[in-house]
Amino acid sequence: MDVSAVRAALLAWYDRAARDLPWRVGPAARAAGTRPDPYRVWLSEVMLQQTTVAHAIPYFLAFTARWPTVQALAAAPEAELMAAWAGLGYYARARNLLACARVVAGGGGTFPDTEAQLRALPGVGPYTAAAVAAIAFDRPANVVDGNVERVMARLFAVTAPLPAAKPQLKALAAALVGDARPGDWAQALMDHGAVVCRPRAPLCGACPVAVHCAARAAGEPQAYPRRLARAPRPRRHGVAWVLERGRAVAVERRPARGLLGGMLGLPTSAWTEDPPEAAPPLAAEWREAGPVEHVFTHFALTLQVRRARVGPDQGENFQWLEADAAARALPSVFRKALNAR
Ligand code: SF4
Repeated sequence: MDVSAVRAALLAWYDRAARDLPWRVGPAARAAGTRPDPYRVWLSEVMLQQTTVAHAIPYFLAFTARWPTVQALAAAPEAELMAAWAGLGYYARARNLLACARVVAGGGGTFPDTEAQLRALPGVGPYTAAAVAAIAFDRPANVVDGNVERVMARLFAVTAPLPAAKPQLKALAAALVGDARPGDWAQALMDHGAVVCRPRAPLCGACPVAVHCAARAAGEPQAYPRRLARAPRPRRHGVAWVLERGRAVAVERRPARGLLGGMLGLPTSAWTEDPPEAAPPLAAEWREAGPVEHVFTHFALTLQVRRARVGPDQGENFQWLEADAAARALPSVFRKALNAR
């Protein structure tokens, strides 16, 4: 593989076709000397670990409008930040986000500029540290996510299956990192993986590195990366209760530890292997709605939904939120239950 030819082709493509993203300083602006704001780079990378660019953009815009600096974010009450995070998933990350903002703000508000120092911040793993070091500070860090693994597996027609092939794919990506334009390089690879070398239908005809691609030469690029068959995701069952009083809905704060810890939730049973025999939170005329389905990382959930209306003097143990506010504050799984009729 001609490393310098691959780098030149991909960077030239990025100069023409870089996506316009709200946290990004594009290649022309960067070449003219504009530096990205490390806070925005870090925030976007944390959001993008768990969702798509399209889903993350409105959250990113809302966060940066409300908390334009790391100091502002550090001063946010945890409950407000958790509510703003609702719908982005992996709520432990939202807590780490706040912890990290507080450490950075406490140290004067400047993000460290090396991978090793970034790694020492709460919730910043190897991927985020590499991405922030490269994008915000132009450090020649090897930024490898699933997109980059896919591009490497195809460029080099790696036949070893994931996840065992990860170290090999990372080493292949490392060999392509250079001292010139590290931030642009990391983002060029990301864009190429997202827009051209797509998971199911790679656009090989429009690919700037097609002539270098071993998987294309072999005739079946979408067969890479190879994967070991996954064990089926286990299923759990539970009940959620939608309790309405006038225009308000009963919610409760979930325990700090555990799934969706610290988030607002609907009253719910335990989520168990077998459908639970669960007593409702109070006596009322409950009717069946739903069920709704939700997929978490480690299990799929079938949630039976039961709805009831109560009078103004009932349910004093709950927090009551207007239905619209509840829909905004609840994680996706409870939002689905709230909408089940
Ligand atoms: Fe991906 Fe096709 Fe380009 Fe190979 S030629 S890197 S498979 S888009």
